Amino acid sequence: MEEKYLFYQLNRCTGCQLCVMACSLARSGVCGENESLISILTHPQFGTSQPIIEETCIWEQCDKQCVQVCSPGVLYLAEKKDWGGLLLKQHWNPVPVFVREEKQ
Ligand code: SF4
Repeated sequence: MEEKYLFYQLNRCTGCQLCVMACSLARSGVCGENESLISILTHPQFGTSQPIIEETCIWEQCDKQCVQVCSPGVLYLAEKKDWGGLLLKQHWNPVPVFVREEKQ
């Protein structure tokens, strides 16, 4: 199995949340931030947005619904052989990873 990782383009995310809804629907059949492995952070002062992914996203097999619904082309699920080239380009970054803490 080819190892893949989700990259994003800087300053392209509109914060529309379509990727969040698409991931959630594909995984659980409902629309909800808690069911999605991708989240969007929007800066409260500047309004800039960027995706982050839950750690599980790295290992879970999927049909990359988040990439498919993102019309500005922010997201790219890159094969390992392409990681080095993407990291050399200033506008591509690996999507940061977070660990979701269970609510008590
Ligand atoms: S990554 Fe794409 S689909 Fe997700 S919020 Fe940003 S623009 Fe929308």
